[in-house]
Amino acid sequence: MVDIFKNLNQNQIEAVKTTEGRVRVVAGAGSGKTRVLAHRYAYLVREFGISSSNILCMTFTNKAAQEMKNRIAKLVDKAYVNDYICTIHSFCVKFLRKEIHRIGYPKNFAIIDSLDEKALAKDVMAEMELDDAYTVKQFLDEVEIYKSINPYIEQIILPDRKNQLEAKCESYIICYILLQLETFSLDFKDLIEYTLYILNNFEDAKIYWQEQFNYIMVDEVQDCSRSDWKIIDILSQFYNNLFIVGDPDQSIYEWRGAVPENFINFKSDRDFILDENYRSTQNILNVANSIISNNKKRIPKNLYTQKSSDYIAVHFHGKSEEEEGNWIANQIKSLVKQGYDYGDFAVLYRASFISRVIEQALLKHHIKYIVWGGVRFFERKEIKDVLGYLRLISYKDDLSFKRIINTPSRKFGKVSLKKLQDLANEKKMLLYDTLVKYKDLPVFNKKSILDFINLIEECRAFGTTKSISDLLAYILDASGLISMYRKDSDQEQLDNISELINSIKYYEVSNAEEENLSLDIYLQDISLYTNADYKNSGTSVKLMTIHQSKGLEFPFVFVCNLTEGIFPSHRSIRERKRDGEEEERRLMYVAVTRAEKGLFLTESEGYNSSFKLEKYPSRFIKEIDENLIKVDGKIDPILYKGTEYLVNSIENEINPNDVIEGLNIGDRVKHKIFGEGEIVGVNSGHSYRINFNGKFRTILEEFLIYLGKK
Ligand code: ATP
Ligand code: MG
Repeated sequence: MVDIFKNLNQNQIEAVKTTEGRVRVVAGAGSGKTRVLAHRYAYLVREFGISSSNILCMTFTNKAAQEMKNRIAKLVDKAYVNDYICTIHSFCVKFLRKEIHRIGYPKNFAIIDSLDEKALAKDVMAEMELDDAYTVKQFLDEVEIYKSINPYIEQIILPDRKNQLEAKCESYIICYILLQLETFSLDFKDLIEYTLYILNNFEDAKIYWQEQFNYIMVDEVQDCSRSDWKIIDILSQFYNNLFIVGDPDQSIYEWRGAVPENFINFKSDRDFILDENYRSTQNILNVANSIISNNKKRIPKNLYTQKSSDYIAVHFHGKSEEEEGNWIANQIKSLVKQGYDYGDFAVLYRASFISRVIEQALLKHHIKYIVWGGVRFFERKEIKDVLGYLRLISYKDDLSFKRIINTPSRKFGKVSLKKLQDLANEKKMLLYDTLVKYKDLPVFNKKSILDFINLIEECRAFGTTKSISDLLAYILDASGLISMYRKDSDQEQLDNISELINSIKYYEVSNAEEENLSLDIYLQDISLYTNADYKNSGTSVKLMTIHQSKGLEFPFVFVCNLTEGIFPSHRSIRERKRDGEEEERRLMYVAVTRAEKGLFLTESEGYNSSFKLEKYPSRFIKEIDENLIKVDGKIDPILYKGTEYLVNSIENEINPNDVIEGLNIGDRVKHKIFGEGEIVGVNSGHSYRINFNGKFRTILEEFLIYLGKK
């Protein structure tokens, strides 16, 4: 068995041995925080004989929990690696399976993910005949806000349930919550809130769980929300052995309610600061530091490393997105030739739509890859839907037909499809052709179906008179597909569709000399990506969003599409102003500090039609000291003028004086759903009573944008 104290420095050993009381480790990326936590677990089990079921270890993402578990597994006997090494949500699930009966739920309650949430929201919206302008996203945002500020468990879930279910819902939010109740389904927020409710209200349950965990350790604690903290606080009250680990510079979930201040203001018995980084080379660390030092709201740290820099960080500037993708693929291939493994590479990006360019390049170069925590671009539902229309127009194939005939809904369900299928089998015809031929049969003769046929026929008739991108724009609109997605208002899906349009425009420009560029040729050309055979054997390059990469490390890291506006995301800056900008920079810091040996920052020129954005290098590249990075590719200095222009224009858009730090009565604020309003009351817990044109609501600070004094 590995020596617990091997490869730990003096400070780390001290932290491992300080088992009792409230202990905090604050340290930069790669300084061995997670390592200390894992070794501390082993120390408790191996030296103190603490049963592993009495130790709770939590973090915030599945991958990070897995990493924590893997590291612990290397230090203790298999039998001691238990289920209490997990994310806070999975702890809540375990807790609730045992305790939820106290509030009348069965222990096999359902957990609903965001897709189920949307389906439920749509049901309620249809039932309540909510107006068309109201999107599913707005609806769910309102539910979330409602759940944040109202004791909904006491008020809605518990009282006189049966009567409520039978009574007519008095508001759509209550109706939604009651529907959840009817199916005993909990969303992620409920998991936390229900756990908290039971801990607060059932003394014996509280005592049981407090006594269960002699030791509690929490990694990445800067990502804790207020309610997460409360759970941790209650659970640790009995033994008071709480070990928390974090790095305020890596706080990247404030947009979702994380409050790193709780970590900074934590009353500890003992603090440890780790300042040696064991992960990255000095060069990588310097790059990270030169970026993060631009944040004003931070406590400076002094990280150093003894790892010599064999590779200097590279900034690659491509003339086009294709060049950027190819460059990444070629770098990987050449390093693999030098003896590295495909598994040594991670490609990180700000938003998942960006994977498209990288995936296409890797597929073209026959490099195996996996998309971690996500779905490949061309397998995403919305992309398959959109391509389904194009395919049906071109090929009339049954697969595409079945995919899109009822997307969006045309009231052509399973029964109609079965009838059509039987008829098609009998006549030995394609489904689409059968429908066209027999459209006058009563079962098919509906306006929605006739409109559908007309649309497809009309598009077929366009031939090459319309460009593919124009054709697609027309279909998205006329089929109702885009309004269906807009109504869901799932930004990620909309961004993916925009990215597909962007790629088609790029395809048209790159094939401009080709006469009569037809839809058939396009579909053939992209079949490499859409029909790729993904049987992965051996190791693969890993693609993931930066959020997914939290707590992990890779020998070589590519951070791609570093285009001002995309990363940092101007959308985030618009929404959260200076706080948004600083959070974007912390995200960049997280990305850079994942790298052990080599770091590659890439971006390219061109016009991103989906973002309506001329592409200029990200401000983060400009922030890096020139001596720390080698530039590959010719970059015209004028491009940085473009960056400057974009930075200034977003600066002007967000008033520099309007950082929200406690609002006052009389302040004007904006809320993304309720619009502009005025603060009329300040409550505890950062919430405000606001007058929105005569309607009063209580809203949490993080959902407000400050507009100025009255
Ligand atoms: P992050 O902030 O990114 O989560 P971290 O502070 O949790 O980083 P770890 O992942 O624990 O850092 O450590 C970074 C790397 O350094 C790991 O590979 C770990 O095994 C190694 N490491 C940590 N401490 C030491 C040490 N004293 N000697 C040798 N290697 C170490
Ligand atoms: Mg860590």
